[in-house]
Amino acid sequence: MFDKFREECGVFAIYGHPEAANVADLGIFALQHRGQESAGVASSDGNSVYCFKAMGHVADIFTPSVLSSLPGERAIGHTRYSTAGDTVLLNAQPFSVTTNKGRIALAHNGNITNAAEIRRELEADGAIFSASSDTEVVLHLISRSREKTVASALRDALLQLEGAFSLVLLTKTHIIVARDPNGFRPLCMGQMEIPGDRVSYVFASETCSFDLIGAVHMGDVEPGEMVIVGPEGITREFFAPRRDRSQCVFEHVYFSRPDSVVFGRPVAQSREAMGRLLARQHPVDADVVVPVPDSGVVAALGFAAESGIPLRMGLIRNHHVGRTFIEPSQAIRDFGVKLKLNPVRHLLKGKRVILVDDSIVRGTTSRKIVRMVRNAGAAEVHLRISCPPTVSPCFYGVDTPTKNELIAANQSVDEICRYVEADSLGYLSLSNLWQAVDDNKHEYCYACYTGDYPTDLVNIGELLEGKSRC
Ligand code: AMP
Repeated sequence: MFDKFREECGVFAIYGHPEAANVADLGIFALQHRGQESAGVASSDGNSVYCFKAMGHVADIFTPSVLSSLPGERAIGHTRYSTAGDTVLLNAQPFSVTTNKGRIALAHNGNITNAAEIRRELEADGAIFSASSDTEVVLHLISRSREKTVASALRDALLQLEGAFSLVLLTKTHIIVARDPNGFRPLCMGQMEIPGDRVSYVFASETCSFDLIGAVHMGDVEPGEMVIVGPEGITREFFAPRRDRSQCVFEHVYFSRPDSVVFGRPVAQSREAMGRLLARQHPVDADVVVPVPDSGVVAALGFAAESGIPLRMGLIRNHHVGRTFIEPSQAIRDFGVKLKLNPVRHLLKGKRVILVDDSIVRGTTSRKIVRMVRNAGAAEVHLRISCPPTVSPCFYGVDTPTKNELIAANQSVDEICRYVEADSLGYLSLSNLWQAVDDNKHEYCYACYTGDYPTDLVNIGELLEGKSRC
Protein backbone atom coordinates (compact mmCIF):
# COMPACT_ATOMS: atom_id res chain seq x y z
CA MET A 1 0.00 0.00 0.00
CA PHE A 2 2.95 2.33 0.18
CA ASP A 3 4.27 4.42 -2.60
CA LYS A 4 7.91 3.79 -1.90
CA PHE A 5 8.28 1.15 -4.61
CA ARG A 6 5.49 2.48 -6.72
CA GLU A 7 7.24 2.56 -10.03
CA GLU A 8 4.60 1.87 -12.57
CA CYS A 9 3.18 4.11 -15.21
CA GLY A 10 -0.20 4.55 -16.83
CA VAL A 11 -0.78 5.35 -20.50
CA PHE A 12 -3.81 6.64 -22.38
CA ALA A 13 -4.59 7.58 -26.01
CA ILE A 14 -7.63 8.92 -27.82
CA TYR A 15 -8.37 9.50 -31.50
CA GLY A 16 -11.22 11.45 -33.04
CA HIS A 17 -12.69 13.36 -30.11
CA PRO A 18 -13.42 17.11 -30.25
CA GLU A 19 -12.17 17.47 -26.66
CA ALA A 20 -9.34 14.97 -26.85
CA ALA A 21 -7.07 16.62 -24.26
CA ASN A 22 -9.89 16.97 -21.73
CA VAL A 23 -10.77 13.31 -22.13
CA ALA A 24 -7.08 12.31 -21.89
CA ASP A 25 -6.88 14.30 -18.65
CA LEU A 26 -9.77 12.24 -17.24
CA GLY A 27 -8.27 9.06 -18.67
CA ILE A 28 -4.99 9.50 -16.81
CA PHE A 29 -6.76 10.79 -13.71
CA ALA A 30 -8.28 7.30 -13.45
CA LEU A 31 -4.76 5.85 -13.79
CA GLN A 32 -3.27 8.03 -11.05
CA HIS A 33 -2.67 4.96 -8.85
CA ARG A 34 -0.11 3.73 -11.44
CA GLY A 35 2.23 6.67 -10.82
CA GLN A 36 2.08 9.90 -8.87
CA GLU A 37 5.36 11.57 -9.67
CA SER A 38 4.59 13.38 -12.91
CA ALA A 39 1.92 13.50 -15.58
CA GLY A 40 1.61 14.77 -19.12
CA VAL A 41 -0.74 15.11 -22.07
CA ALA A 42 0.18 15.73 -25.71
CA SER A 43 -2.40 16.61 -28.35
CA SER A 44 -2.44 17.26 -32.08
CA ASP A 45 -4.72 19.17 -34.41
CA GLY A 46 -3.35 18.31 -37.84
CA ASN A 47 -0.94 21.25 -37.81
CA SER A 48 1.28 20.51 -34.87
CA VAL A 49 1.81 18.47 -31.70
CA TYR A 50 1.35 20.23 -28.35
CA CYS A 51 2.52 18.90 -25.00
CA PHE A 52 2.27 19.83 -21.34
CA LYS A 53 3.79 17.89 -18.48
CA ALA A 54 4.71 18.63 -14.91
CA MET A 55 5.65 17.02 -11.64
CA GLY A 56 2.75 16.15 -9.36
CA HIS A 57 -0.78 14.85 -9.56
CA VAL A 58 -3.04 14.91 -12.62
CA ALA A 59 -5.81 16.93 -10.92
CA ASP A 60 -3.36 19.69 -9.94
CA ILE A 61 -1.49 19.87 -13.26
CA PHE A 62 -4.31 20.11 -15.81
CA THR A 63 -6.05 23.39 -15.08
CA PRO A 64 -8.57 24.77 -17.61
CA SER A 65 -5.92 27.10 -19.05
CA VAL A 66 -3.41 24.26 -19.49
CA LEU A 67 -6.05 22.15 -21.21
CA SER A 68 -6.97 25.01 -23.53
CA SER A 69 -3.35 25.01 -24.75
CA LEU A 70 -3.81 21.41 -25.97
CA PRO A 71 -6.07 21.62 -29.05
CA GLY A 72 -7.06 18.93 -31.53
CA GLU A 73 -8.94 15.66 -31.81
CA ARG A 74 -6.05 13.36 -30.87
CA ALA A 75 -4.24 13.09 -27.55
CA ILE A 76 -2.05 10.80 -25.49
CA GLY A 77 -1.47 10.93 -21.74
CA HIS A 78 0.86 9.48 -19.16
CA THR A 79 1.22 9.20 -15.39
CA ARG A 80 4.64 8.31 -14.17
CA TYR A 81 6.71 7.10 -11.36
CA SER A 82 10.02 5.87 -12.68
CA THR A 83 11.11 2.35 -13.46
CA ALA A 84 14.13 3.65 -15.30
CA GLY A 85 15.72 7.04 -15.01
CA ASP A 86 15.86 9.65 -12.32
CA THR A 87 12.79 11.26 -10.91
CA VAL A 88 13.02 14.64 -12.60
CA LEU A 89 10.84 16.62 -14.96
CA LEU A 90 13.21 15.85 -17.83
CA ASN A 91 12.02 12.27 -17.62
CA ALA A 92 8.32 13.13 -17.43
CA GLN A 93 6.30 11.86 -20.37
CA PRO A 94 5.08 12.16 -23.10
CA PHE A 95 8.37 12.98 -24.81
CA SER A 96 7.56 15.43 -27.61
CA VAL A 97 10.23 15.89 -30.29
CA THR A 98 10.76 16.93 -33.88
CA THR A 99 12.19 14.15 -36.03
CA ASN A 100 12.99 13.80 -39.70
CA LYS A 101 9.55 12.15 -39.94
CA GLY A 102 7.72 15.07 -38.37
CA ARG A 103 6.74 15.99 -34.87
CA ILE A 104 5.87 13.09 -32.56
CA ALA A 105 5.04 12.53 -28.92
CA LEU A 106 5.62 9.22 -27.17
CA ALA A 107 4.71 7.75 -23.79
CA HIS A 108 5.53 4.32 -22.46
CA ASN A 109 4.75 1.89 -19.65
CA GLY A 110 7.19 -0.91 -18.91
CA ASN A 111 10.91 -1.41 -18.89
CA ILE A 112 13.05 -1.97 -21.97
CA THR A 113 15.68 -4.42 -20.78
CA ASN A 114 18.22 -3.69 -23.54
CA ALA A 115 17.79 0.11 -23.42
CA ALA A 116 21.24 0.65 -21.89
CA GLU A 117 22.99 -1.31 -24.64
CA ILE A 118 21.08 0.48 -27.40
CA ARG A 119 21.84 3.81 -25.78
CA ARG A 120 25.56 3.00 -25.56
CA GLU A 121 25.63 2.13 -29.26
CA LEU A 122 23.71 5.27 -30.20
CA GLU A 123 25.95 7.48 -28.06
CA ALA A 124 29.05 5.93 -29.59
CA ASP A 125 27.53 6.95 -32.90
CA GLY A 126 27.08 10.55 -31.80
CA ALA A 127 23.51 10.56 -30.46
CA ILE A 128 22.71 13.03 -27.71
CA PHE A 129 20.30 12.17 -24.90
CA SER A 130 18.62 14.77 -22.74
CA ALA A 131 16.94 12.48 -20.22
CA SER A 132 17.71 9.18 -18.54
CA SER A 133 14.47 7.41 -19.37
CA ASP A 134 14.48 4.36 -21.65
CA THR A 135 11.65 5.92 -23.69
CA GLU A 136 14.11 8.33 -25.29
CA VAL A 137 15.93 5.38 -26.85
CA VAL A 138 12.77 4.53 -28.80
CA LEU A 139 12.58 8.07 -30.17
CA HIS A 140 16.17 7.85 -31.42
CA LEU A 141 15.47 4.53 -33.10
CA ILE A 142 12.39 5.97 -34.83
CA SER A 143 14.33 9.00 -35.98
CA ARG A 144 17.25 6.94 -37.32
CA SER A 145 15.11 4.40 -39.15
CA ARG A 146 15.41 4.53 -42.94
CA GLU A 147 11.69 3.93 -43.25
CA LYS A 148 9.68 6.89 -44.51
CA THR A 149 6.56 6.81 -42.35
CA VAL A 150 6.38 7.03 -38.56
CA ALA A 151 4.44 3.75 -38.41
CA SER A 152 7.11 1.86 -40.38
CA ALA A 153 9.91 3.51 -38.40
CA LEU A 154 8.19 2.58 -35.15
CA ARG A 155 7.86 -1.02 -36.35
CA ASP A 156 11.58 -0.96 -37.10
CA ALA A 157 12.33 0.42 -33.64
CA LEU A 158 10.09 -2.01 -31.79
CA LEU A 159 11.82 -5.00 -33.36
CA GLN A 160 15.06 -3.89 -31.71
CA LEU A 161 13.59 -3.68 -28.21
CA GLU A 162 13.57 -6.34 -25.53
CA GLY A 163 11.51 -6.40 -22.39
CA ALA A 164 8.22 -4.80 -21.52
CA PHE A 165 6.46 -1.96 -23.27
CA SER A 166 2.94 -0.76 -23.80
CA LEU A 167 3.37 2.47 -25.68
CA VAL A 168 1.26 5.25 -27.16
CA LEU A 169 2.50 7.54 -29.92
CA LEU A 170 1.00 10.69 -31.40
CA THR A 171 1.74 12.44 -34.69
CA LYS A 172 0.05 15.45 -36.26
CA THR A 173 -2.47 13.12 -37.87
CA HIS A 174 -2.34 9.70 -36.20
CA ILE A 175 -2.33 7.73 -32.98
CA ILE A 176 -0.24 4.55 -32.88
CA VAL A 177 -0.20 2.15 -29.93
CA ALA A 178 1.82 -1.03 -29.47
CA ARG A 179 2.40 -3.78 -26.93
CA ASP A 180 5.51 -5.93 -26.56
CA PRO A 181 5.35 -9.49 -27.94
CA ASN A 182 5.20 -11.03 -24.45
CA GLY A 183 2.38 -8.73 -23.36
CA PHE A 184 3.94 -8.00 -19.98
CA ARG A 185 2.01 -4.80 -19.31
CA PRO A 186 -1.67 -4.28 -20.06
CA LEU A 187 -3.11 -2.12 -22.84
CA CYS A 188 -6.85 -2.09 -23.46
CA MET A 189 -8.80 -0.77 -26.35
CA GLY A 190 -12.22 0.89 -26.39
CA GLN A 191 -14.64 3.03 -28.30
CA MET A 192 -16.88 5.91 -27.41
CA GLU A 193 -19.69 7.44 -29.35
CA ILE A 194 -19.52 11.15 -29.89
CA PRO A 195 -22.11 13.57 -31.25
CA GLY A 196 -22.71 13.35 -34.98
CA ASP A 197 -22.75 9.52 -34.99
CA ARG A 198 -18.99 9.44 -34.88
CA VAL A 199 -16.85 6.93 -33.03
CA SER A 200 -13.76 7.81 -31.08
CA TYR A 201 -11.06 5.19 -30.37
CA VAL A 202 -9.46 5.02 -26.93
CA PHE A 203 -6.60 3.05 -25.41
CA ALA A 204 -5.62 2.80 -21.74
CA SER A 205 -3.55 0.76 -19.33
CA GLU A 206 -6.69 -0.19 -17.43
CA THR A 207 -10.41 -0.26 -18.11
CA CYS A 208 -11.18 1.96 -15.09
CA SER A 209 -10.19 4.81 -17.44
CA PHE A 210 -12.92 3.80 -19.88
CA ASP A 211 -15.54 3.71 -17.14
CA LEU A 212 -14.85 7.33 -16.24
CA ILE A 213 -15.02 8.66 -19.80
CA GLY A 214 -17.97 6.48 -20.80
CA ALA A 215 -16.09 4.33 -23.32
CA VAL A 216 -16.88 0.70 -24.07
CA HIS A 217 -14.08 -1.85 -23.58
CA MET A 218 -13.57 -3.70 -26.88
CA GLY A 219 -10.69 -5.99 -25.85
CA ASP A 220 -6.92 -5.72 -25.56
CA VAL A 221 -4.17 -4.61 -27.90
CA GLU A 222 -2.63 -8.06 -28.39
CA PRO A 223 0.98 -8.87 -27.48
CA GLY A 224 3.15 -7.99 -30.50
CA GLU A 225 0.38 -5.90 -32.01
CA MET A 226 0.47 -2.35 -33.30
CA VAL A 227 -2.75 -0.39 -33.85
CA ILE A 228 -2.71 2.66 -36.12
CA VAL A 229 -5.63 5.08 -36.11
CA GLY A 230 -5.79 7.89 -38.67
CA PRO A 231 -8.08 9.64 -41.13
CA GLU A 232 -8.14 6.42 -43.19
CA GLY A 233 -9.54 4.43 -40.25
CA ILE A 234 -8.06 1.84 -37.90
CA THR A 235 -5.41 -0.75 -38.86
CA ARG A 236 -4.29 -3.61 -36.62
CA GLU A 237 -1.15 -5.55 -37.45
CA PHE A 238 1.41 -7.77 -35.74
CA PHE A 239 4.87 -6.23 -35.83
CA ALA A 240 6.58 -9.29 -34.32
CA PRO A 241 6.12 -13.05 -34.45
CA ARG A 242 3.92 -14.49 -31.74
CA ARG A 243 5.55 -15.58 -28.51
CA ASP A 244 4.25 -17.19 -25.38
CA ARG A 245 2.41 -14.61 -23.32
CA SER A 246 3.95 -13.42 -20.04
CA GLN A 247 1.34 -11.11 -18.56
CA CYS A 248 2.45 -9.61 -15.25
CA VAL A 249 0.62 -11.43 -12.47
CA PHE A 250 1.47 -8.58 -10.08
CA GLU A 251 -1.06 -6.43 -11.97
CA HIS A 252 -3.70 -8.71 -10.48
CA VAL A 253 -2.00 -9.02 -7.10
CA TYR A 254 -1.36 -5.32 -6.51
CA PHE A 255 -0.99 -2.75 -9.28
CA SER A 256 -4.26 -2.53 -11.09
CA ARG A 257 -7.39 -1.14 -9.57
CA PRO A 258 -9.85 -3.85 -8.51
CA ASP A 259 -12.56 -2.25 -10.67
CA SER A 260 -10.47 -2.84 -13.82
CA VAL A 261 -10.53 -5.74 -16.25
CA VAL A 262 -6.89 -6.55 -16.95
CA PHE A 263 -5.70 -9.21 -19.43
CA GLY A 264 -9.36 -9.96 -19.99
CA ARG A 265 -10.06 -10.81 -16.35
CA PRO A 266 -11.69 -8.70 -13.60
CA VAL A 267 -8.99 -7.84 -11.07
CA ALA A 268 -11.47 -8.03 -8.18
CA GLN A 269 -12.33 -11.61 -9.19
CA SER A 270 -8.66 -12.61 -9.00
CA ARG A 271 -8.10 -10.85 -5.69
CA GLU A 272 -11.15 -12.35 -4.04
CA ALA A 273 -10.05 -15.79 -5.25
CA MET A 274 -6.56 -15.16 -3.81
CA GLY A 275 -8.16 -14.39 -0.44
CA ARG A 276 -10.42 -17.44 -0.53
CA LEU A 277 -7.57 -19.78 -1.50
CA LEU A 278 -5.34 -18.21 1.15
CA ALA A 279 -8.01 -18.92 3.79
CA ARG A 280 -8.12 -22.57 2.71
CA GLN A 281 -4.35 -22.87 2.54
CA HIS A 282 -3.54 -21.17 5.86
CA PRO A 283 -6.59 -21.38 8.13
CA VAL A 284 -6.30 -19.92 11.62
CA ASP A 285 -8.64 -19.66 14.56
CA ALA A 286 -9.21 -15.93 15.01
CA ASP A 287 -11.85 -13.28 15.76
CA VAL A 288 -11.49 -10.77 12.93
CA VAL A 289 -10.05 -10.42 9.44
CA VAL A 290 -8.45 -6.99 8.96
CA PRO A 291 -7.19 -5.77 5.56
CA VAL A 292 -4.16 -3.55 5.16
CA PRO A 293 -5.81 -0.82 3.08
CA ASP A 294 -5.99 -0.41 0.18
CA SER A 295 -3.90 -3.21 -1.23
CA GLY A 296 -5.25 -5.98 1.02
CA VAL A 297 -8.95 -5.10 0.97
CA VAL A 298 -10.35 -7.36 -1.74
CA ALA A 299 -8.23 -10.38 -0.76
CA ALA A 300 -9.36 -9.86 2.86
CA LEU A 301 -12.99 -9.90 1.69
CA GLY A 302 -12.32 -13.26 0.06
CA PHE A 303 -10.53 -14.54 3.17
CA ALA A 304 -13.41 -13.49 5.44
CA ALA A 305 -16.07 -14.96 3.15
CA GLU A 306 -14.24 -18.28 2.89
CA SER A 307 -13.33 -18.60 6.57
CA GLY A 308 -16.59 -17.24 7.98
CA ILE A 309 -14.57 -14.89 10.21
CA PRO A 310 -15.97 -11.33 10.16
CA LEU A 311 -14.15 -8.60 8.24
CA ARG A 312 -13.42 -5.43 10.19
CA MET A 313 -11.78 -2.25 8.91
CA GLY A 314 -9.34 -2.20 11.81
CA LEU A 315 -6.87 0.01 9.94
CA ILE A 316 -7.84 3.28 8.30
CA ARG A 317 -5.79 4.85 5.58
CA ASN A 318 -5.29 8.57 5.08
CA HIS A 319 -5.47 8.97 1.32
CA HIS A 320 -4.17 12.50 1.24
CA VAL A 321 -0.51 11.91 2.02
CA GLY A 322 1.12 13.54 -0.98
CA ARG A 323 4.10 15.52 0.15
CA THR A 324 7.03 14.54 2.34
CA PHE A 325 6.81 15.67 5.93
CA ILE A 326 9.71 16.49 8.15
CA GLU A 327 9.51 14.23 11.16
CA PRO A 328 8.80 16.60 14.06
CA SER A 329 10.65 14.60 16.66
CA GLN A 330 12.49 11.34 17.10
CA ALA A 331 9.98 10.54 19.79
CA ILE A 332 7.24 9.88 17.22
CA ARG A 333 7.81 6.21 16.48
CA ASP A 334 7.02 4.68 13.09
CA PHE A 335 6.15 8.13 11.80
CA GLY A 336 5.98 7.16 8.10
CA VAL A 337 3.49 4.35 8.62
CA LYS A 338 1.41 6.46 11.01
CA LEU A 339 1.02 9.14 8.36
CA LYS A 340 -0.85 6.65 6.22
CA LEU A 341 -2.45 4.21 8.62
CA ASN A 342 -4.24 4.47 11.92
CA PRO A 343 -5.61 1.55 13.94
CA VAL A 344 -9.24 1.47 15.07
CA ARG A 345 -8.54 0.44 18.64
CA HIS A 346 -11.99 -0.73 19.72
CA LEU A 347 -12.08 -3.17 16.77
CA LEU A 348 -8.67 -4.64 17.59
CA LYS A 349 -8.48 -4.62 21.38
CA GLY A 350 -8.29 -8.12 22.81
CA LYS A 351 -8.94 -9.67 19.38
CA ARG A 352 -7.11 -12.44 17.55
CA VAL A 353 -6.49 -10.63 14.27
CA ILE A 354 -5.84 -12.01 10.79
CA LEU A 355 -4.07 -9.21 8.93
CA VAL A 356 -4.29 -9.54 5.13
CA ASP A 357 -1.93 -7.72 2.77
CA ASP A 358 -0.88 -8.28 -0.82
CA SER A 359 2.86 -8.66 -0.46
CA ILE A 360 5.99 -8.34 1.63
CA VAL A 361 8.96 -6.79 -0.14
CA ARG A 362 11.59 -5.68 2.36
CA GLY A 363 9.48 -6.53 5.40
CA THR A 364 10.05 -3.21 7.11
CA THR A 365 6.55 -1.82 6.54
CA SER A 366 4.85 -5.09 7.37
CA ARG A 367 6.73 -5.17 10.67
CA LYS A 368 5.54 -1.66 11.53
CA ILE A 369 1.95 -2.54 10.68
CA VAL A 370 2.03 -5.72 12.78
CA ARG A 371 3.41 -3.67 15.68
CA MET A 372 0.74 -1.03 15.17
CA VAL A 373 -2.03 -3.63 15.37
CA ARG A 374 -0.47 -5.23 18.46
CA ASN A 375 0.03 -1.87 20.15
CA ALA A 376 -3.65 -1.19 19.55
CA GLY A 377 -4.38 -4.13 21.84
CA ALA A 378 -4.66 -7.14 19.51
CA ALA A 379 -4.18 -10.40 21.40
CA GLU A 380 -2.68 -12.18 18.38
CA VAL A 381 -1.63 -11.01 14.91
CA HIS A 382 -1.60 -13.58 12.08
CA LEU A 383 -0.25 -12.18 8.82
CA ARG A 384 -1.61 -13.59 5.55
CA ILE A 385 -0.12 -12.54 2.21
CA SER A 386 -2.11 -12.96 -1.01
CA CYS A 387 0.86 -13.94 -3.21
CA PRO A 388 3.95 -16.18 -2.88
CA PRO A 389 7.22 -14.89 -1.36
CA THR A 390 8.85 -12.24 -3.59
CA VAL A 391 12.27 -13.77 -4.23
CA SER A 392 13.51 -12.10 -7.42
CA PRO A 393 13.62 -8.57 -8.79
CA CYS A 394 11.37 -7.64 -11.71
CA PHE A 395 12.99 -6.30 -14.90
CA TYR A 396 9.72 -5.71 -16.70
CA GLY A 397 8.40 -2.57 -15.08
CA VAL A 398 7.91 -3.26 -11.38
CA ASP A 399 10.71 -1.64 -9.46
CA THR A 400 11.40 -4.27 -6.85
CA PRO A 401 14.62 -3.73 -4.91
CA THR A 402 17.72 -5.86 -5.45
CA LYS A 403 17.82 -9.48 -4.28
CA ASN A 404 19.82 -8.42 -1.22
CA GLU A 405 16.95 -6.27 -0.03
CA LEU A 406 14.17 -8.74 -0.78
CA ILE A 407 13.53 -10.37 2.57
CA ALA A 408 12.11 -13.59 1.08
CA ALA A 409 15.19 -14.05 -1.11
CA ASN A 410 17.32 -14.28 2.02
CA GLN A 411 15.13 -15.63 4.79
CA SER A 412 12.75 -18.54 5.32
CA VAL A 413 9.05 -17.98 6.01
CA ASP A 414 9.68 -18.74 9.71
CA GLU A 415 12.47 -16.18 9.83
CA ILE A 416 10.30 -13.58 8.09
CA CYS A 417 7.52 -14.33 10.56
CA ARG A 418 9.90 -13.62 13.43
CA TYR A 419 11.22 -10.48 11.73
CA VAL A 420 7.76 -8.98 11.21
CA GLU A 421 6.86 -10.08 14.77
CA ALA A 422 3.69 -11.90 13.71
CA ASP A 423 2.24 -14.90 15.59
CA SER A 424 2.01 -16.74 12.30
CA LEU A 425 2.67 -15.98 8.65
CA GLY A 426 1.18 -17.61 5.56
CA TYR A 427 1.80 -16.84 1.90
CA LEU A 428 -0.39 -17.94 -1.01
CA SER A 429 1.27 -20.78 -2.92
CA LEU A 430 2.26 -20.43 -6.57
CA SER A 431 -0.28 -23.04 -7.66
CA ASN A 432 -3.03 -21.19 -5.81
CA LEU A 433 -1.96 -17.94 -7.48
CA TRP A 434 -2.26 -19.63 -10.91
CA GLN A 435 -5.69 -20.78 -9.90
CA ALA A 436 -6.71 -17.33 -8.65
CA VAL A 437 -5.89 -15.72 -12.02
CA ASP A 438 -7.26 -18.76 -13.87
CA ASP A 439 -3.96 -19.28 -15.68
CA ASN A 440 -4.64 -22.68 -17.19
CA LYS A 441 -3.01 -21.58 -20.45
CA HIS A 442 0.26 -20.48 -18.77
CA GLU A 443 -0.06 -16.89 -19.92
CA TYR A 444 1.34 -15.06 -16.90
CA CYS A 445 4.84 -14.04 -15.76
CA TYR A 446 5.68 -15.16 -12.20
CA ALA A 447 9.38 -14.24 -12.32
CA CYS A 448 9.28 -12.27 -9.05
CA TYR A 449 8.14 -15.45 -7.29
CA THR A 450 10.26 -17.98 -9.19
CA GLY A 451 13.34 -16.19 -10.62
CA ASP A 452 12.39 -17.75 -13.94
CA TYR A 453 12.50 -14.86 -16.42
CA PRO A 454 10.53 -15.35 -19.64
CA THR A 455 12.94 -13.40 -21.89
CA ASP A 456 16.70 -13.64 -22.39
CA LEU A 457 18.32 -11.06 -20.19
CA VAL A 458 21.67 -10.74 -21.91
CA ASN A 459 22.85 -8.07 -19.52
CA ILE A 460 21.45 -9.71 -16.38
CA GLY A 461 24.54 -8.80 -14.32
CA GLU A 462 24.09 -5.15 -15.16
CA LEU A 463 20.37 -5.30 -14.61
CA LEU A 464 20.88 -6.83 -11.18
CA GLU A 465 23.20 -4.03 -10.21
CA GLY A 466 20.72 -1.50 -11.53
CA LYS A 467 23.29 -0.12 -13.98
CA SER A 468 21.03 -0.51 -16.94
CA ARG A 469 18.75 2.21 -15.65
CA CYS A 470 19.76 4.48 -18.45
P1 AMP B 1 7.44 -4.09 3.23
O1 AMP B 1 6.91 -4.74 4.47
O2 AMP B 1 8.37 -2.97 3.58
O3 AMP B 1 8.00 -5.05 2.30
O4 AMP B 1 6.21 -3.39 2.51
C1 AMP B 1 5.09 -4.13 2.17
C2 AMP B 1 4.05 -3.19 1.61
O5 AMP B 1 4.51 -2.64 0.38
C3 AMP B 1 2.72 -3.89 1.32
O6 AMP B 1 1.70 -3.15 1.97
C4 AMP B 1 2.57 -3.82 -0.18
O7 AMP B 1 1.23 -3.52 -0.53
C5 AMP B 1 3.47 -2.71 -0.59
N1 AMP B 1 4.05 -2.99 -1.91
C6 AMP B 1 4.49 -4.14 -2.40
N2 AMP B 1 4.97 -4.01 -3.65
C7 AMP B 1 4.81 -2.73 -3.97
C8 AMP B 1 5.08 -1.94 -5.12
N3 AMP B 1 5.65 -2.46 -6.20
N4 AMP B 1 4.78 -0.64 -5.07
C9 AMP B 1 4.25 -0.09 -3.95
N5 AMP B 1 3.98 -0.77 -2.84
C10 AMP B 1 4.23 -2.07 -2.83
